[in-house]
Amino acid sequence: MTRLDETAWPGIPNQSLLLVPLGSTEQHGPHLPFTVDTEVAEAVAREAGQRLGAVVAPVLAYGSSGEHQQFAGTLSIGQDALRLLLIELVRSARTWAARIVLITGHGGNAPVLSEVVPSLRAEGHDVAWLGLGVPGGDAHAGRVETSLMLQLAPERVGSFAQVEGSTAPLADLMPRLRAGLLREASASGVLGDPRGATAEEGGALLAQLVDDTVHRIERAAVGDVGMLRASS
Ligand SMILES: [Zn+2]
Repeated sequence: MTRLDETAWPGIPNQSLLLVPLGSTEQHGPHLPFTVDTEVAEAVAREAGQRLGAVVAPVLAYGSSGEHQQFAGTLSIGQDALRLLLIELVRSARTWAARIVLITGHGGNAPVLSEVVPSLRAEGHDVAWLGLGVPGGDAHAGRVETSLMLQLAPERVGSFAQVEGSTAPLADLMPRLRAGLLREASASGVLGDPRGATAEEGGALLAQLVDDTVHRIERAAVGDVGMLRASS
């Protein structure tokens, strides 16, 4: 692996695979820091990059997070800025990298990726994306993300024994989320239930995310929105 934050230009291999982790700065309930998506994307990209011998870019710490804007501290760059940023970043990277994979830890970035990546591919760029999701896992600042942060940075996880989240199906909440009104769906900002989260579970989830990411990149089957498919 070649990390751009610890390498000078002579160390960049020719025809490399570049991994770009994408995060967000948005509220993650009363017990987790704003940087959960950013930190998870960075950790997975580094571990996957190690296994793949890839170049790993610094993480993008901002994303499209309008659904969380009712909570102070949230910093969203919105869809238009993210779209332009990704177009310029991929065109720049493709002057030296053979292949680019964008790895998002934030689901809110997915609509922009689904639009931008196919158009970049139509320009002839070898670029694809994937989202870090746990099948059957809760949506936001719940058991999955709390477990992941207990594994990555337990000293920055607050008390969550009393945290109440909304466990309504995400599909039912989407209209309010799209309107930027997550707070009306969940007063705590949590979609899911963090109670029961453990570092041990977080470690297993992290390994699962890394395995899935490596597998998708090696398989290189790109779906119609430019996303790397899983095998099954
Ligand atoms: Zn998150």
